Amino acid sequence: MSNKLIDKLNQGPVICAEGFLFEIERRGYLSAGEFVPTVALDRPDVLEALHRDFQHAGSDIVQAFTYNVHREKVRVAGKEHLLEKLNRAALQIARKVTNISLDQPKPNLMAGNISNSNIWNENDKKVQLEVEKMFSEMAQWAVDEKADIMIGETFYYAEEAFKALEIIKKTNLPAVITIAPMGENKMRDNWSIVDTCKELEQRGADVVGMNCFRGPNTMKQFVLEIRKAVKCHVAALPVPYRTNIKHQTFFNLPDRSNECGCESPHGRTFPTALDPLYCNRYEIAKFSKEVYDKGINYLGVCCGASPALIREVAHAVGLRVSGSKYKENMKNHFMYGDNQRIPKHIKEYGDLA
Ligand SMILES: [Zn+2]
Repeated sequence: MSNKLIDKLNQGPVICAEGFLFEIERRGYLSAGEFVPTVALDRPDVLEALHRDFQHAGSDIVQAFTYNVHREKVRVAGKEHLLEKLNRAALQIARKVTNISLDQPKPNLMAGNISNSNIWNENDKKVQLEVEKMFSEMAQWAVDEKADIMIGETFYYAEEAFKALEIIKKTNLPAVITIAPMGENKMRDNWSIVDTCKELEQRGADVVGMNCFRGPNTMKQFVLEIRKAVKCHVAALPVPYRTNIKHQTFFNLPDRSNECGCESPHGRTFPTALDPLYCNRYEIAKFSKEVYDKGINYLGVCCGASPALIREVAHAVGLRVSGSKYKENMKNHFMYGDNQRIPKHIKEYGDLA
């Protein structure tokens, strides 16, 4: 069993870029709403570029883009015949990018990925068995394609997260399990957030924590509680959206400028009209630094993440990465910089710009 993940976490921060669904949609190669990624087969070059961009920005982990590429979701989209091909192609691209050394080589890890099935039912053993089979085939493909670790993520049923962990444990790979409780601030099957993570640790997860659905404002309190309650490493990967006490997740987050008549054709901002609710990079940096200072070493950003935000996370916890070369440099700005060459009359024009 590779202990590279734990060794690295014991030494300091580990960055994991997630949220590829939104980013590939933004780049124009995925249908919003349906959210079944076929980019691994349609445009492998686009997926490879995405992974490279996030590596350049400081991600230590290349997570294979198999989110939602499970039998149920692929079936809904009428693409079940592509299931195994899509999984293997995504895993192979992740493996390829992991092996590329950037200008600052670091021991990157390739992750297989399983996630919320969207059919889990706490009262239906038949459905649970179906989910078990879905997870098992994906875990096997990840092992075949030489994943270093396994990530199980975005679970809003505790028992589904336990099932994912059980399947991952059979691979003997390090297990990262992150949960994504909805607006009720508990798991759908009534487990508390903290108890779910404690149980995951008891059952052998190497890293437990939270990802997706919640922005920094509504994730922080819970990941800090988790940090206090478990001994293992803790993960925190919020979405970069300004969720708040009344709207804990991005699913029902209203556009605060509703009065302006901003278009939102589905009656909600999720998932295609969230742009005005985006966190800026300093908010993401602040969150990352605050939770890192409290002992949370596994950091990242989920749906909505861009390479610039991942680089910001890396910088917030004191890392220098390949993309640091291009970090902001306001001193050379043509109006707001303090470079000697910038003429006084142009600087003064800045307030009127
Ligand atoms: Zn996400």
